[in-house]
Amino acid sequence: MGAQILIIEDEARMARFLELELSHEGYTVSKASDGRTGLDMALAGGHDLILLDVMLPGLNGLEVLRRLRNEKDVPVLMLTARDAVMDKVSGLDMGANDYITKPFSIEELLARIRAALRTGAPAARRAVPLRCGELVLDPARHTAAYGDTPLQLTYKEFLLLQTLLENRDIVQTRDMLLETVWGYDYAGETNVVDVYIRYLRQKLDDAFGVKIIHTVRGVGYVIKGDGT
Ligand code: CA
Repeated sequence: MGAQILIIEDEARMARFLELELSHEGYTVSKASDGRTGLDMALAGGHDLILLDVMLPGLNGLEVLRRLRNEKDVPVLMLTARDAVMDKVSGLDMGANDYITKPFSIEELLARIRAALRTGAPAARRAVPLRCGELVLDPARHTAAYGDTPLQLTYKEFLLLQTLLENRDIVQTRDMLLETVWGYDYAGETNVVDVYIRYLRQKLDDAFGVKIIHTVRGVGYVIKGDGT
C-alpha cells in the first residue's frame, strides 16, 4: 500500500482534485475540510505526509501546524495563496517541510510530495546520532534510547533534549531554549521550558536513576559532555 496522505483543505473542488490525483498515484488519501478536524486526524496519526492549506475555517493552517508540531514530526507540505510570503516564512519557521503556491501543477506537487516523504520532518535532518553516555538520540530516525530501552518523547521533548545534547557543556538559558524549541514568537507561558524539563527528567533521569539534565540555578540547564 502507498504512503498515507492527509489532505486538510476546505475548498471542496481542490480537495477532490487532490484526492483523485494522489489516489491515482497509489497514495492512500484521507481528507478534512476544516482546521480542527484536520488537527484531530493528524494527531491521531497514521499519516506519512500532510497537505495543509493555510486559509482554513476553524483553526488556520499555521495554527494547525503549530499545534501539530508540539506532538508530531510527520512531514507537512503547506498549500499557500500566491504571494503570501508571510505564510511561507511562518510555515517554514514552524516546521513545515515545504510549501507550494496555488495554482500549482500536479507534477510539481507530486515531486514535492516525493521529496518530503524522502527527507522526513525538517527537525529530523541530522545524519549522526547524538550520544552522551548511555543516552542515544537519533534525529534522523526520531528515536531516543537509554541503553537498550527506547524513550517515548513528544516532538517538543525530543527537540529540547536534542538542543541540550547539541550544546553539551554550554549552559542553555530559558530564553535560548524557548527560542530554539518553541520559536521567537512563542506567546504562551514562559515557564514552559521548566515544565518540559520536568517531563524529560521524569522520562530520563528519574526513570533510569541517573542525573543527565543539570539545573544551573538562576540561569538555565546543561547536559555535561561525559553524561554525569
Ligand atoms: Ca482554503
